[in-house]
Amino acid sequence: METAENLEIVELQKDLGRFALSQDVDLFGVADLAKYGNALMGHGNNFLGRFKRGLSVGLHLSDAVVDGLEYPDDRGLALTYRFHVYEVVNLLLDKIALGLAARLQNAGYVAYPVPASQTIDQERFMGIISHKLVANLAGLGWIGKNCLLVTPEFGPRVRFATVLTDAPLRPAVLQLGSRCGSCTLCVETCPAGAFTGAAFAPDEPREARFAPGACSEYCRRRKEEWGIELRGSFCGRCVYICPWGRKS
Ligand code: SF4
Ligand code: SF4
Repeated sequence: METAENLEIVELQKDLGRFALSQDVDLFGVADLAKYGNALMGHGNNFLGRFKRGLSVGLHLSDAVVDGLEYPDDRGLALTYRFHVYEVVNLLLDKIALGLAARLQNAGYVAYPVPASQTIDQERFMGIISHKLVANLAGLGWIGKNCLLVTPEFGPRVRFATVLTDAPLRPAVLQLGSRCGSCTLCVETCPAGAFTGAAFAPDEPREARFAPGACSEYCRRRKEEWGIELRGSFCGRCVYICPWGRKS
């Protein structure tokens, strides 16, 4: 039999889901972070490590904008991709994460909205937490050979934000295993040769699969050629090419 406290949590979780839906969120899930503890945190410490749940919210990117990357040398299409994917979608995600955190806070819990895009380690190109790992633990998709979260619905054409919380929300029980199979399209198409083609393994460092420095250097050179000084990727070929996203 459910206790009053459990019923309260179920209601809170429903309320969070309804709020996410009202904000046109495409993917929503709860991850149990307890088994990973600080290992999940790019820069874990006692403050972040105390949160045992992570809410993951995802927005589906505009397919037409991503499909424009079929022409990788087109400056206008690349700039439009960067504008939508980094500026517009990140801002929307941050607003949604703040709204979810406010609801949790009003219910008496601690909630920490993690920015959708923020690099705090300039050498390893990592944020304070991996949104992809949280989304994976929330059952929303698998980490593909492109090191992105690949979802059954939209492939990697999704961006995520996370809200860390001490509220004992009910986490997803199922984690999706990789559905990349023998595909290596993202590995072959990356102009920087940044992927090794190795499948995701939770115990291995990201460097076993991906060289973020190579991607960053490629994008830096591209920006230099085009005379652009903006932050963010202009490439996105690894997002565009994945058949799981193209089918949508
Ligand atoms: S954004 Fe481009 S350069 Fe960077 S990893 Fe993806 S395909 Fe490679
Ligand atoms: S392009 Fe192929 S290998 Fe790469 S993430 Fe998608 S399914 Fe996996």
